Amino acid sequence: MHYLITGGAGFIGTHLSLRLLREGNQVTILDNLSTGRADRLRDSKAEIITGSVTDRELVFSLASKCDYIIHLACVVGVRLTMSRGCETLRLSHTGTENVLEAATVFSKGIFVASSSAIYGKTPKVPVAEEDDSILGASNKASWLYSVGKLVEEHLALAYCRERETSVKIGRFFNVIGPYQTGSYGMVVPTFITQALKGEELPVYEKGKQTRTFGYIEDILDGLQVVLQKGIPGEIYNIGGFEEISILSLAEKIIAMTGSESNIRFIPYSSAFGPYFEETIRRIPDISRLRMLGYEPRYTLDEALSEIISHHRKAT
Ligand code: UDP
Repeated sequence: MHYLITGGAGFIGTHLSLRLLREGNQVTILDNLSTGRADRLRDSKAEIITGSVTDRELVFSLASKCDYIIHLACVVGVRLTMSRGCETLRLSHTGTENVLEAATVFSKGIFVASSSAIYGKTPKVPVAEEDDSILGASNKASWLYSVGKLVEEHLALAYCRERETSVKIGRFFNVIGPYQTGSYGMVVPTFITQALKGEELPVYEKGKQTRTFGYIEDILDGLQVVLQKGIPGEIYNIGGFEEISILSLAEKIIAMTGSESNIRFIPYSSAFGPYFEETIRRIPDISRLRMLGYEPRYTLDEALSEIISHHRKAT
């Protein structure tokens, strides 16, 4: 198969591209390289086109030549999306419309990457695909990314209903793995980097908020199950299985790295200003994907030890 992967030079895209190439596929990547990095794919056979999904002509020309489109391109990380709101929404709306239109015109299948962020501040745990999205007021820019991802999902579903586009949607839950950087605010690489340097780990508020992290290899397994067995027009949660509080995560990373770092508690208002809100507990209900044969394998300890040893090698 010849895959076109938008955002293919990012953290998830790089792992996906390398796996698809290992399996004997051809990969073309469209990435604006704003946060993605071409050097990690230099020794691979991936063809990297530097450009944006908002460039309709370019998207059409690349889509016409591939067999299947995987749409990952997006601004990443809470911190970055809050400071690049216009770009985030433009990529989600214009970019996603371009790839969906191209997939429709050239009759290609397409996977659209969404996020657990769309569930917002719902108190329900675990969350299943048909549960409500509950987002805060629009003066809280932390919900902007969720809105962008909801726009992508609604566009994808509308194309499926109205234009018979063969689109599948996956909602990723807190994906972690080698190559993920802490520069845009993601917690695991931030904590590991700080611990290895012996510097303070920044825990927001009291660290009672929880997440369920999914190791990249498991997440890619889930994505491939969706590609192989998923139903067009259907949404699938793709995530891990171990919930942990952010404070416990910090303590675990300090212990696993043998670091002498301390934890620093930072109020949301100091980190993000007065208008910040986030999800307090997040656990995916992955039964729909399990029904198709998906089973995440990596425990959090196994995932963290892989990532820590990768960070150690890189430094
Ligand atoms: N977090 C933290 N310190 C950091 C970065 C994040 O305490 O330096 C917390 C954040 O409040 C959230 C969790 O870690 O509850 C996960 O944050 P991340 O940005 O990795 O993913 P999110 O779930 O917010 O998309």
